[in-house]
Amino acid sequence: MSIVAEHGLSSRLKRTHLTSQLGESLNNEVVLAGWVHDVRVLGGISFLLLRDMGGIVQVTAPKTKAPAEVLKEIGSLHQEDVVCVRGTVVTSKIARRGIEVIPNAIEVVSRAETPLPLDPRGVQNTLLETRLNWRVLDFRSEESNAIFKIQSRILQSFREFFSQRHYVEIQPPVIIASASEGGAELFSLKYFEKEAYLAQSPQLYKQMCAISFEKVFTVLPIFRAEKFEQPTHLNEIRQMDIEESFATDAEVMKVLEEFLADCVKSVSEHCGEDLKRLGQSLEPVHLPVTRISYSQAVEMLQKNGEEIEYGMDFSKTQEKKLASLVGKNAFFMVDWPMELKAFYAMPNADGKTCRAFDLIYNGLEISSGTQRIHIPNLLIERLKAKDLNPDNFKSYIDAFRYGAPYHSGWSIGLERLTMKMTGRENIRDATMFPRDRNRITP
Ligand code: ATP
Ligand code: MN
Repeated sequence: MSIVAEHGLSSRLKRTHLTSQLGESLNNEVVLAGWVHDVRVLGGISFLLLRDMGGIVQVTAPKTKAPAEVLKEIGSLHQEDVVCVRGTVVTSKIARRGIEVIPNAIEVVSRAETPLPLDPRGVQNTLLETRLNWRVLDFRSEESNAIFKIQSRILQSFREFFSQRHYVEIQPPVIIASASEGGAELFSLKYFEKEAYLAQSPQLYKQMCAISFEKVFTVLPIFRAEKFEQPTHLNEIRQMDIEESFATDAEVMKVLEEFLADCVKSVSEHCGEDLKRLGQSLEPVHLPVTRISYSQAVEMLQKNGEEIEYGMDFSKTQEKKLASLVGKNAFFMVDWPMELKAFYAMPNADGKTCRAFDLIYNGLEISSGTQRIHIPNLLIERLKAKDLNPDNFKSYIDAFRYGAPYHSGWSIGLERLTMKMTGRENIRDATMFPRDRNRITP
């Protein structure tokens, strides 16, 4: 048996998307391709709601006007079948968009099996687990579709922002030979005769590039092998990072807040429809973003009955509470105690705190950064202070022996930012194919 795929009607050249183009085609013939959102066959008339990336349009086939084969084909359709329709665009008093298409030919490209394991029209009431199991259908729901279009816009705004400012996009490896931060848990893998790890951060590689290219950015996956239970934590994360030479922590914080404000503006401007579908409106980020010190944050929480001592990290609940106490959609926490940040964070003159910062957006940490130590002897000292063996970090330290400007950088979690911009409670909603303690498929 041979299967021949013929696509007479759907040839790319002839196809019109259901976007604004359709209104311009009034009284003209168009070829549309998409998914059957709904189909209704009544006595004298059949309706087909056709959906593509631009939206939904009504295809109306009155018995008196549409060819018999077309009526028969529409009668055979089910939800999520993929079809091509050729027809004339006319004005309509009842259709949602004020226009409808009267078909003169229809071609079925792919039939969907019935019943569907998930109805993309009503996922609001479906368990997240079921939606993740049937992501392929869930992506077609208004909600998920909107979330990932917004995510795509976030990425676009990141790349545009930094390309326009002449940062170089770099491609660090994900398979690494040793831990970049020490301490935190890593996934290990067999790499021929050796043992290797999945990177928990592109730290060393970003720094090596920054001390040669000056200003770099990257988007890449990283891995954290902890048994997280929170709705804010995944085991595979996408990070948007920059690293910059001749820049202090304060300078890259300024870049970070400018990017965040720009990103929020860009999503508001370009994704209005998507935000509306999610019942979300974005407040602009006002610059400069408020800065509070770590110790101020601890005091604020203590005064409000939280159990926290200087030297402890904030729980996610405390982070949220702090945000409501600060009363801003975005703020920085600066001057962290050295114990709470990685060995490569540049110490402050007080000998206690370091040049590290966290950015909290809508009540959740979305980014962390530091000025890095670019002085080999200071790195060795800090490694020892953290009970790490400098011998294990030889290639890292050596990278700074041949001309290394001072430099700083940060990292934004893409899923955390998407989650907060789209107003989701669970990071998995904002992750195309989440990897967590229990899930590695699809
Ligand atoms: P947290 O304290 O919230 O667990 P972290 O301080 O360990 O995060 P960093 O090492 O600072 O995380 O990573 C930079 C950014 O990457 C974070 O600000 C966050 O946006 C994102 N990120 C880190 N770990 C995770 C995770 N497990 N799941 C989702 N996003 C993460
Ligand atoms: Mn952090």
